[in-house]
Amino acid sequence: MLQLQAAQIPVTPFQQNCTLIWEAQTGRGTVIDPGGDVPRILAALDEAGFKVDRILLTHGHLDHAGGAAELKRALETRQVGAVPIEGPDRRDAFLLEGLADQGARFGIQGLENVAPDRWLVEGETVSIADQDFAVLHCPGHTPGHVVFVSIALGVAVVGDAIFRGSVGRTDFPYGDHAALITAIKDKLLPLGDEIRFLCGHGPGSTFGEERRSNPFLQGQG
Ligand SMILES: [Zn+2]
Repeated sequence: MLQLQAAQIPVTPFQQNCTLIWEAQTGRGTVIDPGGDVPRILAALDEAGFKVDRILLTHGHLDHAGGAAELKRALETRQVGAVPIEGPDRRDAFLLEGLADQGARFGIQGLENVAPDRWLVEGETVSIADQDFAVLHCPGHTPGHVVFVSIALGVAVVGDAIFRGSVGRTDFPYGDHAALITAIKDKLLPLGDEIRFLCGHGPGSTFGEERRSNPFLQGQG
């Protein structure tokens, strides 16, 4: 029987949830959005005791992606083998190429630019702990933001698209609030009220709870 487990480690001064998902029987799993504080992520991996098969990125913000290159190097040394970085959508390339500069601007040391081994496109599938998750493009917070969903498992990893009681901020030059709300209403909520989600900041929720009570999703449009 499948025994998926998950843990979230808040990283960087932004307290972003680096998410670990692994399968207890196989001892294999996946790291999503390692934004920084890589030694703490490695300590959590030691505690969980699984082998990391890949690193996934939901979008190109520093608190989600700034530690990906360092974590990849550390894992490839420890595990002796390739650990690919997959995602986000190519439209976030400009963010990933500016991570070191973004970090310096916020006074955060050690963040690195990262070049993913694979860009993701909506309609493709990614593997999380050997389970298939669909890739959905949910722009607005960033142009290339992606979300990972398994209907079979009833779980989604949504990055900064939607939170419990809120949605991702869009007050960036490239942000688009209308596009974000459209993506949430047209792509995420129809997946089903019972789908639980893990998000980039704070506790998770279900799409049903947010459909009913999230103030950003009420009314027409
Ligand atoms: Zn973000």
